[in-house]
Amino acid sequence: MNQIPSSHPRAKSLYIRERLVNAFDGGLVAKEGLMAHGRGEAFDSLMGERTSKSAKKAILAAAFMLKNAQNPVISVNGNIAGLCPREIVLLAKQTGAKIEINLFYATTARRRNIYKTLKKNGAGLVYGMNKKNSTKLSGLDSARRIVDKLGIFSADVVIVPLEDGDRTLALKKAGKKVITFDLNPMSRTAETADITIVDNVVRAIPLLIKSCKSPKKISFDNSKNLSLAIREIKQNLSKRASNA
Ligand code: ATP
Ligand code: MG
Repeated sequence: MNQIPSSHPRAKSLYIRERLVNAFDGGLVAKEGLMAHGRGEAFDSLMGERTSKSAKKAILAAAFMLKNAQNPVISVNGNIAGLCPREIVLLAKQTGAKIEINLFYATTARRRNIYKTLKKNGAGLVYGMNKKNSTKLSGLDSARRIVDKLGIFSADVVIVPLEDGDRTLALKKAGKKVITFDLNPMSRTAETADITIVDNVVRAIPLLIKSCKSPKKISFDNSKNLSLAIREIKQNLSKRASNA
């Protein structure tokens, strides 16, 4: 049931929130996932709720890395499955990437619900569903250390939207190239990944799909690009402060 009038000044943000709440009610998203979204919203507001120059640059770099990967895998959690299941499937098709369900707060029911949602949105094979194929990443205590031998474990490039810092580090230690979406340019994930797209997944994934259609090599340095993202926030704040 949609109770948000399109004229509401915060309509877009409220629609995204509503999608996540529906996904929570549908058993895809964990309570903690709702809070993680709140942290994201706060940074989105500081970024001006639009795709910044630094994000566009990271998207170009990510498209090139993905198109040149041998065995790319997209890691899907509840928030991503709730916010953009269709886009994840399209991105997988566009890049030949595998899809793996990988949860921090793992329950069989949530895994099944996410699986069903991905399938409904046209996903082919979904990894992370067969216990016989699971193995562990070293250096991690959470349930997310369990990965699919045929998925993330054997990947060269892993896309981890909305990731926790510990796991990003574990993936790096396992020799993976990591692409992440994270609205917080100062998170451990943002700092650890090879390419950090500081943008809302809802806006950035469709742009990444578009860029994957004609990938271009660009020169890219993640820490410089994160500094640029932080400067963009600073500029937004300065503008607001001078209008106040
Ligand atoms: P880290 O563990 O990397 O230091 P953290 O502990 O601050 O980060 P987590 O809860 O582990 O945060 O990860 C969730 C991250 O996802 C947050 O940084 C948040 O900004 C980001 N996030 C939440 N929703 C979105 C979204 N829709 N698009 C992009 N990023 C998002
Ligand atoms: Mg964290």
